[in-house]
Amino acid sequence: MGSSTQVNKKVADCLEAVEAELKANNVTYQIRQFGCLRNPDAQIGDMSYHEYGAACDINWDTNPYVQGSPPASLPYDPNCHAGGHCYDIPPEVRSAFDHHGFFWGGNWGHTIYDYMHFEWHGENP
Ligand SMILES: [Zn+2]
Repeated sequence: MGSSTQVNKKVADCLEAVEAELKANNVTYQIRQFGCLRNPDAQIGDMSYHEYGAACDINWDTNPYVQGSPPASLPYDPNCHAGGHCYDIPPEVRSAFDHHGFFWGGNWGHTIYDYMHFEWHGENP
């Protein structure tokens, strides 16, 4: 991912697969911030997976943790034109993580949206 961070070994293998898929698909999204095992800027609510190095946060300055009433839909909206939540992780990046066992925090629902967060559910850490 272009920067070093500590992760569970099995998770690291999956992250490499994600990176390979992004490269193979020529995905140009820049991962500027990347943290797995504890991220000092990370928000509350997801620390258990981070403690095992089984959750990673990406670009948290543009993909916030949001608590509140959900908009009717959550379109990919890097410029917030839809008036909903603002995040900029594009669909092709989210699907690459999904293919390799990561659940996206933006899909949690129940008024909690953790757009920076990818949590590995491939196997128990
Ligand atoms: Zn997180």
